[in-house]
Amino acid sequence: MNDLENLYRQVIMDNYKNPKNKGLIENDKYIKYHMSNPSCGDEITIQVLIDDNTVKDLKHDGKGCSICCASASIMSSLVKNKSVDVSTNLINNFSDMLLGKEVNEELLDEAIVFKGVSKFPARMKCASLAWKALEKVIEGDTNE
Ligand code: ZN
Repeated sequence: MNDLENLYRQVIMDNYKNPKNKGLIENDKYIKYHMSNPSCGDEITIQVLIDDNTVKDLKHDGKGCSICCASASIMSSLVKNKSVDVSTNLINNFSDMLLGKEVNEELLDEAIVFKGVSKFPARMKCASLAWKALEKVIEGDTNE
């Protein structure tokens, strides 16, 4: 393992142990979306406040592997206060990165730590679960 991979793993473990924006709140202005990844046992619910075409807030809760939980944590801090357009662009770049395509690394910021997941197809669903849920919410979908 090289230094960069080591650093990425460290960031993932930090976000797993101390997740940002974890825990749902009672507020019906937020839109909820639940998603699961049966192949790994990951379960996640996100709760998003969209106002003025901007993701004002995003919370998440659930249980899952370190990759799934860390990805939700990193996504929640990345999209907060970003416009819906920029958030959609982030989601698309993130899924392209998992497919091993060229991406806007500057835009992806800390989410770049999941780049190595592209080498482990079985873990792709873990990394993308929270992002797929956000995509659904932006599309106007809800399942809770
Ligand atoms: Zn998982």
